[in-house]
Amino acid sequence: VQAKRTAAKFALYQGTADQECTRRLALMSDLRSAIDKNELLLYCQPKVSISSGEVCGAEALVRWQHAQHGMIATGEFIALAERAGLIMPLTRWVLETAFRQSHTWFEQGIRQPLSVNLSAQDLRDPHLVDRISSLFATWAMPPEMMQFELTESALMEDPVGALKTLQRLKALGVDLFIDDFGTGYSSLSYLQKLPVDSLKIDQSFVASMLTNAGSAVIVRSTVELGHNLGLGVVAEGVESEAQWDSLRALGCDTAQGHFVGFPIPTEQFVDWEAHCQWRHRPPAGDTTLAT
Ligand code: C2E
Ligand code: MG
Ligand code: MG
Ligand code: MG
Repeated sequence: VQAKRTAAKFALYQGTADQECTRRLALMSDLRSAIDKNELLLYCQPKVSISSGEVCGAEALVRWQHAQHGMIATGEFIALAERAGLIMPLTRWVLETAFRQSHTWFEQGIRQPLSVNLSAQDLRDPHLVDRISSLFATWAMPPEMMQFELTESALMEDPVGALKTLQRLKALGVDLFIDDFGTGYSSLSYLQKLPVDSLKIDQSFVASMLTNAGSAVIVRSTVELGHNLGLGVVAEGVESEAQWDSLRALGCDTAQGHFVGFPIPTEQFVDWEAHCQWRHRPPAGDTTLAT
């Protein structure tokens, strides 16, 4: 009986694993046509300055609205795109859409920078920087309107090549962020060489900073490290006022997360900003006045 049960369990496990594999393969092939079928959407999530309480930009986050399966988790299809070698066409779509959106904001007098996530494969694309450079020319936009985020682990896949690409990107005049900082094993000497402007503390540390002493130490040390290197520090995944208050006490510069604002379609950002509480929030140190 035991053997039978084990066999059944194993068969069940195999079944779901096969189904999962089939689903991934199907998704991968659908992703090839998703761009042409207009199934990709560009969302963005606000960034707010912790000291002034003002909105200071937004991060572009791609979404895939699949015709049959609805919204596909972004983390999942980005990972699939990376494995299937489909990142470059995806990045091209994101860049073109982000520049068009940013240009619309610029025309409306809105000066919020939009940051675009790039992956390890993008860093290896010899045409990436030229493509970005020509988008700036096409849309006649100043470099301050666009920023780029690179995960620490993407940089570490090819540290020497990544450094070269970052130097060329930086020469365009854009601000660069190291994303998911604290999860990618970069060395301090490498970090010091990188022409970046800010570190984004990985959301896993922010999520547990109030309940786990180790995470609290990592958040505190990252703020200090960033500032000591002359960099800004962004906390991602800020979900509560208690986290916000703690980050403010630590001197963290910028917050992003559900407490500040959820990702929304980019066309809704101007309206969101006009109605959000953040522009009216008292600056750091003024909390006593507010109560
Ligand atoms: P990321 O760049 O670190 O972006 C932050 C992720 O955390 C986003 O997930 C965002 O929706 C989510 N998030 C924001 N605030 C909170 C919060 O308070 N709590 C929690 N639990 N999560 C929060 P999303 O949009 O699913 O994207 C996942 C990852 O996929 C991104 O991580 C980024 O690495 C990648 N990605 C997204 N868009 C693009 C893109 O256009 N190109 C590339 N190459 N990668 C992208
Ligand atoms: Mg990011
Ligand atoms: Mg700068
Ligand atoms: Mg991140």
